[in-house]
Amino acid sequence: MLRTAAGLGARIASRVQAVGFLREGEHVVGARAADLETGAPIHVRARQVVNAAGVWTDDIQEMVGGRGQIHVRASKGVHLVVPRDRIQASSGMILRTEKSVLFVIPWGRHWIIGTTDTDWDLDKENPAASRADIDYVLDHVNQVLRTPLGRDDVEGVFAGLRPLLSGESEESSQLSREHTVAHPVPGLVLIAGGKYTTYRVMAKDAVDAVAHGLGGGIPDSVTDRLPLVGADGYAALRNQRQALARGSGLHVSRVSHLLRRYGSSVHDLLTLIRERPDLGRPLEAAEDYLRAEVVYAALAEGARHLEDVLSRRTRISFETWDRGIAVAEEAAELLAVPLEWDEEQVKREVEFYRKGIEAERAAQEQDTDQEADAIQHGAPEIVPEAGIGRPGGD
Ligand SMILES: Cc1cc2nc3c(=O)[nH]c(=O)nc-3n(C[C@H](O)[C@H](O)[C@H](O)COP(=O)(O)OP(=O)(O)OC[C@H]3O[C@@H](n4cnc5c(N)ncnc54)[C@H](O)[C@@H]3O)c2cc1C
Repeated sequence: MLRTAAGLGARIASRVQAVGFLREGEHVVGARAADLETGAPIHVRARQVVNAAGVWTDDIQEMVGGRGQIHVRASKGVHLVVPRDRIQASSGMILRTEKSVLFVIPWGRHWIIGTTDTDWDLDKENPAASRADIDYVLDHVNQVLRTPLGRDDVEGVFAGLRPLLSGESEESSQLSREHTVAHPVPGLVLIAGGKYTTYRVMAKDAVDAVAHGLGGGIPDSVTDRLPLVGADGYAALRNQRQALARGSGLHVSRVSHLLRRYGSSVHDLLTLIRERPDLGRPLEAAEDYLRAEVVYAALAEGARHLEDVLSRRTRISFETWDRGIAVAEEAAELLAVPLEWDEEQVKREVEFYRKGIEAERAAQEQDTDQEADAIQHGAPEIVPEAGIGRPGGD
């Protein structure tokens, strides 16, 4: 989505944190931000500012003063990843639970099983999964499996926070999945709640509010007719995958994998491999991915750190038994060229990643959210937060 926006003229700044607003009287006329990579302060002037900060919505609201009428609660969702051969089923499943539903979804060579739905008021940057979360998911899926799953079958675990509009019910699974748009002060639009699947409607509603604030004269939104980067031409390329395989020297299953991940941007990856044939090899300790995908993440997908690549641009962090530890060095060395890292930085990245995974594993042995959070929160961050919403932050 960000790359599509950039292609249409948006300026994208990754790892830049808003820490305050620029004000003229009551009006918001921009934001103060910090570049977390360099620590440099940035002032962005704007006629309209949008707060679209998910579970951080209330923190941003506090920066304008007062708590506003809209509050967002965080609900933690934990998913487990298990190998495909652990469940003998030919289709996905949706199971009813006492609170909500549990999905069992086929995912490449794995199953994804989840999710939990519990209130979370601890570290929002990196929510920790606890032993209780993992047991909850296992207990529920085991009710329908002939051969039950145990903790040893779990390859990976990931946790996220849903931003839910609060105030309607105490139970987070009952909170509204609808979104809302508000104008807390002149110059500032707030959008919160909603679902990933409704993001285009949310974006349209937020931009309509911005257009109103600008006094109109802006053409209607065309987001519902705008293909994302890689979508245009995808279907035809899928039909041509055998020819792409012949032309590139890659196996057709590799080409299918690249098409699934990059759509018609597959040509960028194939060009990289043509220029540097070693990039056409799979990563040694994460064979589902090619070395080219790591380099591409830095060149074209805004990855700045090893963790970005292993946990976000690829899913290596929860699709391998060792959670990406064994592949970390090879991936960091591949990133060193486009990101201009020296040997010291390569070591630093691998070390941070390893410590993060160790903390995550230790957290998952803890019974409660508080204990899991205390351990996971203790892991060092490769890029520190600027301190918003924390005591002492501005
Ligand atoms: C486990 C789980 C399962 C889900 N399943 C589904 C599903 O099946 N279908 C579905 O439609 N939705 C699902 N969702 C919900 C969906 O992921 C969210 O609704 C959606 O991501 C919310 O988008 P958002 O842009 O509002 O917030 P977010 O995606 O949280 O984005 C907010 C962004 O603001 C940034 N930010 C915060 N503070 C600052 C600051 N001070 N400066 C700069 N940036 C800042 C954050 O870094 C973040 O990138 C699920 C969520 C979870 C956790």
